[in-house]
Amino acid sequence: MSPDLISGLSVEDWTWYGQFQFLDIGKKGNEFIFQYLDANGNKVTQSFADLDIWEGWARDYFSGRLDEMAGSTLAGEDVELFWELQKMAFLSRSVCTVIAAIDKAIETSGQTVTIVSAPEGLDSYDWGTNTLFWNPDMRGSVDYFPGRGAERAWHTAPAMVGLAHELEHCLDDLNGLPYIEVPSETAAMSNENQMRYALFKKMPGGRQNIFPRPGLARNTEDIASEADKAWRIYWRNRSAYPKWKK
Ligand SMILES: [Zn+2]
Repeated sequence: MSPDLISGLSVEDWTWYGQFQFLDIGKKGNEFIFQYLDANGNKVTQSFADLDIWEGWARDYFSGRLDEMAGSTLAGEDVELFWELQKMAFLSRSVCTVIAAIDKAIETSGQTVTIVSAPEGLDSYDWGTNTLFWNPDMRGSVDYFPGRGAERAWHTAPAMVGLAHELEHCLDDLNGLPYIEVPSETAAMSNENQMRYALFKKMPGGRQNIFPRPGLARNTEDIASEADKAWRIYWRNRSAYPKWKK
């Protein structure tokens, strides 16, 4: 959304998350930019060198409103996961809706999701036990296929990209959908690419480094050697992705 679109509207015109967003920083932006409407309806824009600094500010700014935020049910007492989910929700409206839907599914179905720290591994979701494994100590740029040399540009991305993928699996599971590779992974990779695209536009360096995931298999070729070109092709040929191994 263009930042100008929120001019001239009062706070009441916006849903909760609509009042806060990270902005597209363009090709040369070197800080995250967070924009929000304050209690008086004034538009405020603040820059943050990284998401940890934003989190420090946000923990203070949003204190007292945490129960209203997407992911509060899913994260429960896991404060680190809660704030990881907030970064994701404010970066991507699309990922925010998945997180909010998980909260709703837990509340209405009575199912639970167990959150388990996975210090040695990457984020994952276990369909059988409703367990979301995530690694709180490894939230920066990670290699999604550790030890294999990150041969493709899409192999490396911030860990929240993988978490976005697992959250879609979690939502499907809570909604009673069985795991079937093609539809399940198509949905998960779609949510994953929404997270990737938000980071491409809103994270310093993202324009150069954050590529779309082209397919499930590790050796799937990057769509293009430049990130901006890869995204143009991805969005223009949406039905061509994800690629499946023959
Ligand atoms: Zn998956």
